[in-house]
Amino acid sequence: MKALTYHGVHRISFEDAPDPQLQHEHDAIVEVELAGICGSDLHVYHGRETGLDAGTVMGHEFVGRVVATGAGVRAFAPGDRVACPFSTNCGRCYYCSLGLSARCTAGQLFGWVQDGLGLHGGQAPFVRVPLADTTLCRIPDDLRSDEALLLCDVLPTGYHCATMAAIAPGGSYAVLGCGPVGLMSILAARELGAERLYAVDAIDERLAFAARLGATPVDSRRADPVLVVRGATDGRGADAVLEAVGSPEAGRLAFELVRPGGTISAVGVHHEAAFPFSPAQAYDRNLTYRIGRCPARSLMEGLIPLARRRRDDLAALLTHRLPLASGPEAYELFDHKRDGCIKVALEP
Ligand code: NAD
Ligand code: ZN
Repeated sequence: MKALTYHGVHRISFEDAPDPQLQHEHDAIVEVELAGICGSDLHVYHGRETGLDAGTVMGHEFVGRVVATGAGVRAFAPGDRVACPFSTNCGRCYYCSLGLSARCTAGQLFGWVQDGLGLHGGQAPFVRVPLADTTLCRIPDDLRSDEALLLCDVLPTGYHCATMAAIAPGGSYAVLGCGPVGLMSILAARELGAERLYAVDAIDERLAFAARLGATPVDSRRADPVLVVRGATDGRGADAVLEAVGSPEAGRLAFELVRPGGTISAVGVHHEAAFPFSPAQAYDRNLTYRIGRCPARSLMEGLIPLARRRRDDLAALLTHRLPLASGPEAYELFDHKRDGCIKVALEP
């Protein structure tokens, strides 16, 4: 098959890769119909996150059809339409039972092969899914594939961000980053009752989308988010800051924006060795800091009704659909946020 593979910083190739085979009795092979490019892929693309073997098939968001199953797979059969969360999970361990599937003791990330170990990703015509019974999620007939694609990662991640932020009606909130994850955080925060929600970014189309979802856009090129948010909260700051960027600058801005006793909910992926504020500063602000990988599998089934209800917003988020063969250009487009690009779906 031909797939999108990693070859170093800014080097994604569309090239031959081995066809995935069933390796264990709980594996399934999925024929990919649509695959997403995610802000998390950009960390690898830019070399902020390292360790990936050259030739690794990229991508961790994909929907498609099961085409083969190992002898131990019970819940799925060839022909089933499925969405796959960005990591595998056993559904049974301590963390899966807690609803923290992201920390499953048997879990692996798609699109991460390091020193020969790990899983190839879904930006490919076919992908091997281990622990298929507990990893894959059936797509109901009335949900389109592009809608379901957002269940693999960004809708659960936005929902997780809003949940960690303990959103309540009457509060004041700031969302940092209006990429797909930040926008889904806004959508989820609104669902949970947020009324006053300031959305910070510096890209017109993304700010406009934030406004469409009911947030007040704050263009950081034109206004200081700290002045805007403090100005709107009697100088206090936001009750919670939802950080969906994943940079030291955004981490610091989140700290500047949060009120004493407030919460920073960070789903942006961080690679730094230290927090952008000190323990003393956190103490002096009675800060709650919540961070980490979203337990997408634990959340995705429960979010199907929300995906149905907000299907127009989900569809609008996918601004670009391109053939998988145009993947290298698609990465560049998504990275530079050119041509109003918010999210790209690739078609093998
Ligand atoms: P994206 O690159 O499309 O969006 C990031 C947005 O942040 C851009 O619109 C950019 O203009 C904006 N931005 C950059 N610096 C900023 C700053 N200082 N203040 C405010 N806005 C700023 O990416 P995405 O797909 O939306 O992903 C966002 C983050 O979420 C990434 O770090 C990604 O790795 C992470 N992520 C985490 C999880 C998880 O499980 N925790 C899951 C998916 C994605
Ligand atoms: Zn993702």
